[in-house]
Amino acid sequence: MSAAEDMDWERARRKQYDKEYYQENRDRILKQHRERRDRNILYAKKYQEKLKFTVLTEYSEGDYPKCVICGEERMGCLSIDHINNDGAEHRREIGYSSGGQLYRWLKRNNFPSGFQTLCMNCQWVKNKENDKIGRTRRALV
Ligand SMILES: [Zn+2]
Repeated sequence: MSAAEDMDWERARRKQYDKEYYQENRDRILKQHRERRDRNILYAKKYQEKLKFTVLTEYSEGDYPKCVICGEERMGCLSIDHINNDGAEHRREIGYSSGGQLYRWLKRNNFPSGFQTLCMNCQWVKNKENDKIGRTRRALV
């Protein structure tokens, strides 16, 4: 047998062995895959939380995330606000669709200016105010 044939035979044998091994240990292998996937999801979640914490802190006044208007500190209420209300435009520009992607982008770009940490309430009020101004302006034109 040539060296190449030898390789082919070796490969075929290995493949057959893997197949049999899989069939015999299917349940255990699938369980391992499930566990690994769950672990990865958990890591990803923890990483996201840490990233969010880092980014929101960077855009707060202090050592931890806080709304720059009212001082709200509950993480669940806080998010990044585009100071000039050009969020939609920025989203199109850098092509992100989720908060997580924005946080990654901000960190990768060394926390550029133009952003601040706001709570949902302040964000909502700000949007309402802008809405009013926008409508008045349109009405005046
Ligand atoms: Zn607030």
